[in-house]
Amino acid sequence: MEARIIDGKKLSERLKEDIKARVEGLKQKGVIPGLAVILVGNDPASAVYVRNKERDCNQVGIQSRVVKLDEDTPQRELLEYIYKLNADPTIHGILVQLPLPPHMDPNAVINAIDPSKDVDGFHPVNMGRLVIGEECFEPCTPKGIIRLIQETGQPIAGKHAVVIGRSNIVGKPVALMLLRHNATVTICHSKTVNLKEITRQADILVVAVGKPNLIDGSFIKPGAIVIDVGINRVEDQLVGDVNFQDACRVAGWITPVPGGVGPMTRTMLLENTILAAEKKWAG
Ligand code: NAD
Repeated sequence: MEARIIDGKKLSERLKEDIKARVEGLKQKGVIPGLAVILVGNDPASAVYVRNKERDCNQVGIQSRVVKLDEDTPQRELLEYIYKLNADPTIHGILVQLPLPPHMDPNAVINAIDPSKDVDGFHPVNMGRLVIGEECFEPCTPKGIIRLIQETGQPIAGKHAVVIGRSNIVGKPVALMLLRHNATVTICHSKTVNLKEITRQADILVVAVGKPNLIDGSFIKPGAIVIDVGINRVEDQLVGDVNFQDACRVAGWITPVPGGVGPMTRTMLLENTILAAEKKWAG
């Protein structure tokens, strides 16, 4: 068997066309969707992520505003910026690039964002809504993962989905979203015993750990959908958590790294920003 590739790059380009049309629609109503991205400090990877977000916004016609703050900015000052952006009617989405410097409390910072502008979906109000099944901003990476699974044309309902990883930004929310789509969900993590025994039962396997080659073909049920969320730098190359070549022999569908989840995460941020602007316009 040779797995079919779920091409996140192609899918996100297609979705961006739809986003562009929605931006146009908003502009005709006199609304220019705006996204503010706050970057604190000099982390080179974060700087690249922020530049990419600016580029993505430009591509679809969203106005981006980048706020750059020094590494030693007091948390109070960051919170004041957030409050200003909360009150700014030209800004529909606010994102604080993580990680923050060690003297800042990321929870306090995320809590300061107005939930109606929380396009990253990390605010406890949005997370809580996700848990109880209410409308909310879904976090971008999990939202992109669901779209990638749907791209296979296979139903999620009734499938056994196994998620490896329980972080607040990927593992937990994607498990909740799979549950919302009526999958039977198992969450595995660093303390899980007999990981392979569990993953081999998965019709849908989402791997979000951050360890290259953690999963090879022997962990995969034949024909399964495998979503590799991991991003690891190995000898100057980006690889996922899944041994791609080996997994391809067993899986039915698989996402590549790069070109799978990554581009979808970026595109879902644009989609959430448009959603925020549309909601604001609709009152
Ligand atoms: P994290 O470090 O917060 O969480 C990792 C999880 O893996 C933990 O819940 C831990 O319990 C689990 N884990 C660790 N070792 C394990 C093991 N041996 N077996 C089973 N579980 C184990 O990481 P995160 O923020 O969730 O990110 C995970 C990976 O996804 C990273 O490589 C990150 O770079 C990547 N990521 C990619 C995107 C994207 O857009 N493509 C977005 C977010 C994160």
